[in-house]
Amino acid sequence: MSNVEQVTESHVQAAREYVDQVFAIVQQRNPKEDEFQQATKEIFESLVPVFAKHPKYMEHNILERIVEPERMVMFRVPWLDDEGKVQVNRGFRVQYNSAIGPYKGGLRFHPSVNASIIKFLGFEQIFKNSLSGMPIGGGKGGSDFDPKGKSDNEMMRFCQSFMTELYRHIGSDIDVPAGDIGVGAREIGYLYGQYKRIIGGYEAGVITGKGLGYGGSLTRTEATGYGLVYFMDEMLKDHGLRFHGSEVVISGSGNVAIYAIEKAKQLGSKVIACSDSDGYIVDKKGINLDTVKQLKLVGRKRIREYVDIHPHAEYVEGCTGIWSVPCDIALPCATQNEIDEEAAKTLLANGVKAVGEGANMPSTLEAISVFLNSDVLFAPAKAANAGGVAVSALEMSQNSMRLYWTFEEVDQKLRDIMKNIYRNTVDATEEYGYPGNLVIGANIAGFLKVADAMIVQGVI
Ligand code: GLU
Repeated sequence: MSNVEQVTESHVQAAREYVDQVFAIVQQRNPKEDEFQQATKEIFESLVPVFAKHPKYMEHNILERIVEPERMVMFRVPWLDDEGKVQVNRGFRVQYNSAIGPYKGGLRFHPSVNASIIKFLGFEQIFKNSLSGMPIGGGKGGSDFDPKGKSDNEMMRFCQSFMTELYRHIGSDIDVPAGDIGVGAREIGYLYGQYKRIIGGYEAGVITGKGLGYGGSLTRTEATGYGLVYFMDEMLKDHGLRFHGSEVVISGSGNVAIYAIEKAKQLGSKVIACSDSDGYIVDKKGINLDTVKQLKLVGRKRIREYVDIHPHAEYVEGCTGIWSVPCDIALPCATQNEIDEEAAKTLLANGVKAVGEGANMPSTLEAISVFLNSDVLFAPAKAANAGGVAVSALEMSQNSMRLYWTFEEVDQKLRDIMKNIYRNTVDATEEYGYPGNLVIGANIAGFLKVADAMIVQGVI
């Protein structure tokens, strides 16, 4: 517990005032951006102990600098649908922080995308990427385009149009996008193809999540879901618990959820529920992952069709009810704010022992405080889902070397990375006097590296 004793009440008071003052600026500069303000609030609150202990970060006004994106672009994405009609969407890219490496973060294609969503994701990405231990800054992008119901050709035309504007802002040493909700292997292929045509060269490291045949990394597809389970495994073991023999509920059925299900099963758990944006399925015998993969990855179908193949399972319309399914471990892997205060209380009442965030910001601030004020083990997204972007950084390394590692090599590196993230997060909780609070630990550990780099680089 080095130095914690030396922090006086007046240091804490000054730190709190500083944080409140910068948060007021955030509210004033970003009105009506609820998600962005939510993400900011959570991080700011966590940093009070850092400012109390190290006033130099206040002297350098790091908080006001770090919360302002280095830049953000918004652009028109016109495309032709299959009827030959012109459609218009809005594209975004936020280049949030490049203190420790090129901007790095996914692209999200979903109707809910707006400036607030992109900024919250980009802001979180700074800390997550720092925590991953890899040399990558924070960025994020996307569009309010809805991939649901679009043909392959429409998807391709949209991606080509999106990249026709985005290309001028990115580069393997500048800004490296990847996938997120609505952007998977197919979209990355179309985006990269267009980038390559425009620049007239083969710059594989400009985007990650590429197919294995053209510069992708083994284990990248599995990385976020596997990484989440590796992180949770560390946390559980540290508290005398384990996946083996547990019942697990995992929301979502996209890339993160599917590979979290796979790894949780490999470690001996029974995964009994998963969902999509229409509803959720409960299979008391354990979810059949081949069916989910077939429906979601191959067929782009709805999860309700699971019960046609497995009639003993149950389908429930609407997603929030999934948290009323009793379980030992809950892994929210769908989207932001999917666990509110009531859902958190229901999970607790049903005896959940651990909650690990696979999605970005899936728990509301109220839900997080329910978890932190209970005995449940809570793993925040920035730490627990950093495996995806970490393996993206390994993909960048392999692209630079023009040499590729085996699945086992990348998987082993991913395990080590998740272990280190867990360790560094726990160490920060102890050093700053908040044992067990990984929200504070992850935010502090992620922040320090970026803040220190910003200080030595001058007023940037
Ligand atoms: N979208 C993922 C995330 O939220 C991955 C980003 C990446 O690989 O760049 O971290």
